[in-house]
Amino acid sequence: MAYNDGDHGHGIKRGERYSVSTMEGALTARDRVGVQDFVLLEDFQSENAFIGNLRKRFKEKHIYTYIGSVLVSVNPYHKLTIYTPYIMENYKGVNFYEKPPHVYAIADNAYRSMRNEARNQCILISGESGSGKTEASKYILQYLSVCSTSNDKVEHIKSQLLQSNPVLEAFGNAKTHRNDNSSRFGKYMDIQFDFKGAPAGGKILNYLLEKSRVVHQAHGERNFHIFYQLLEGADENLLNKLNLEKTPDKYYYMLQGKCAKVSSINDRNDFRDVQKALQILDFSKETIENLFATVASVLHLGNITYCGNDKGHAVVEKDHTVQKIANLVGCPFDKLMKSLTHRTIEANREKMLSPLTVDQATYARDALAKAVYGRMFSWLVEKLNSSLTNKDVTRKNVIGLLDIYGFEIFQANSFEQFCINYCNEKLQQLFIELTLKQEQEEYRAEGIEWEPVEYFNNKIICDLVEERHRGIIDILDEECLRPGDATDTTFLQKLEETVGEHPHFVTHKLGDSKLRKTIGYDQFRLLHYAGEVTYSIEGFLDKNNDLLYRDLKETMSEASNEIVKDVFPKSELSRLKRPDTVGTQFRSSLAKLMEILMSKEPSYVRCIKPNDSKMADRFDDNLVRHQVKYLGLMENLRVRRAGFAYRRTHEIFLNRYKSLCPDTWPRYYCSPREGVDKLCRYLDYKDTDYRLGKTKIFIRLPRTLFATEDAFQI
Ligand code: ATP
Ligand code: MG
Repeated sequence: MAYNDGDHGHGIKRGERYSVSTMEGALTARDRVGVQDFVLLEDFQSENAFIGNLRKRFKEKHIYTYIGSVLVSVNPYHKLTIYTPYIMENYKGVNFYEKPPHVYAIADNAYRSMRNEARNQCILISGESGSGKTEASKYILQYLSVCSTSNDKVEHIKSQLLQSNPVLEAFGNAKTHRNDNSSRFGKYMDIQFDFKGAPAGGKILNYLLEKSRVVHQAHGERNFHIFYQLLEGADENLLNKLNLEKTPDKYYYMLQGKCAKVSSINDRNDFRDVQKALQILDFSKETIENLFATVASVLHLGNITYCGNDKGHAVVEKDHTVQKIANLVGCPFDKLMKSLTHRTIEANREKMLSPLTVDQATYARDALAKAVYGRMFSWLVEKLNSSLTNKDVTRKNVIGLLDIYGFEIFQANSFEQFCINYCNEKLQQLFIELTLKQEQEEYRAEGIEWEPVEYFNNKIICDLVEERHRGIIDILDEECLRPGDATDTTFLQKLEETVGEHPHFVTHKLGDSKLRKTIGYDQFRLLHYAGEVTYSIEGFLDKNNDLLYRDLKETMSEASNEIVKDVFPKSELSRLKRPDTVGTQFRSSLAKLMEILMSKEPSYVRCIKPNDSKMADRFDDNLVRHQVKYLGLMENLRVRRAGFAYRRTHEIFLNRYKSLCPDTWPRYYCSPREGVDKLCRYLDYKDTDYRLGKTKIFIRLPRTLFATEDAFQI
């Protein structure tokens, strides 16, 4: 395998592991391509050495490097030849460290741990926008669908799993400044396997779609792909049915970014793929029609304009646009017209229709467009889930894949960045819980000698955001619910009163005097674990409330379009309780996600973006340094270096290898710990290579285990 050449930084290769010539060969290769596991870096405390190694490998097109079992991946920004079926085959059932680092190795390792030990797994992919998370998750999914045996039924499930991607990407991804195919939602997907290890189904959870994109796009950015695909790819017949014209310039929700055409994107082909995928996913013809009708109705909504009458009340300028929407959604024209220009208010227990101003009506129009699209997206995920659910299989193990937005620091940061960065704080917490803290606590519990490694625990920042009654989310909710004069500014004042003294919170008023000079009156700054981010408070209340006038909900609930009817249920109208705010909903869905992830054995893929210009071969040290820092890679390496690469309970270890030692095979007449002790002595393990804890064996380097695994396989 050409890709293999020279990339044996470990000098570990089955059968040749101890040959001197291989070791020498590996040394020269190491100079050129760096080490394939950061654990082997001489100067493992030095950030420069770390970045130097990444750069060296990147220049030689080795985009993957391990930190123990964590995979660091640098986006190559061009097609590599390392994703062929032949290479996939090469990684099947092979020990982790024997091949050059690869995302396939991570997938294979998770798959085998799941099968051998019946433990649920999850693979967490993180990194900033454009670092390659979604690509990595697709390679993992492909690998998992190839690595198992097949029959017709399994083939169908595999293709359904794979085809869920183009559909979700069409509706949930968009071109941004950072990435031509940026995921604008968080995604967690469980891939379920039957007892034979074949894929049996899947389940997707989605997080916080960036709905604001539906109505507004920054210059140089696009709306969600599906809008452009539909105009570019639909045939005349479909376009006529949807009352659409081919040109994106005709639609307000598509023209703001002024970049409908993107050279790296072929909307026409992508639309064909989406249509094919929808069929494979068992969407009926009628459902597909309803889906596109819903998408089209959003575009028409954007084209509604208002003028003010002599009383300043909003009047729709072109009735026929409203007519088009009424047709597509299947709701009464009059009612739609009324609810786009009026709202019902209750005064003295009497209901009255109150006309909207032009601003209010425009706001209501956009709110409706966001609600229709956002709810349709959630509906889509549920529909995919009903196709992917396999009710036949009772005993299932799963591998979960998390592809979620990375930390964001923009020039202007708003409520969306606040939520995304909060999510990253939670993931960092999980990483700390699962790797750093747990690792150290495990040594302590097992009675293994251990030198503690310092790390920053970001729980304090999570608390600042999410703590009940005192955290930012609850303070925001309080302002959102307070009748009367609550505004973004009063929210900021409340923040200053409540969390102003917090060490990770700064405003112009309070906090560090050096920092506060750079903060405006309508901003606050959070000192995140990954860096400082200044948030502009404008729109916080509004975005958290996510209000849609009841009249519009009511009109939508009368739709004949099944999707629209489904997502605006009548039951919502009679509910007395206010729906949870966006922040509160997000907090609880993240808490659920953390529970899901905590119950599984994690693997990590840490993605890094090498430059800001989407260019191959360019490696910007400063940009990479920042990412290395906030991904916590140096801390990760320090913990890993100090510790043991492999650990298993004595029982599991013994059950696998007991046949190698006459004292433990076929039966051992002692405790599992004593059995492991006998086995290790018999195998001639050196004292420095391993430790026996109370319930587990700890092995320092993988190569010790390889030798055992080899002996076992002979
Ligand atoms: P976002 O957070 O915006 O969704 P992301 O981390 O998911 O970003 P991707 O969409 O996976 O980023 O990657 C961005 C682009 O980088 C891809 O469209 C592709 O062009 C390129 N890319 C990423 N990974 C690879 C890879 N392994 N090989 C080749 N190109 C890649
Ligand atoms: Mg992505």
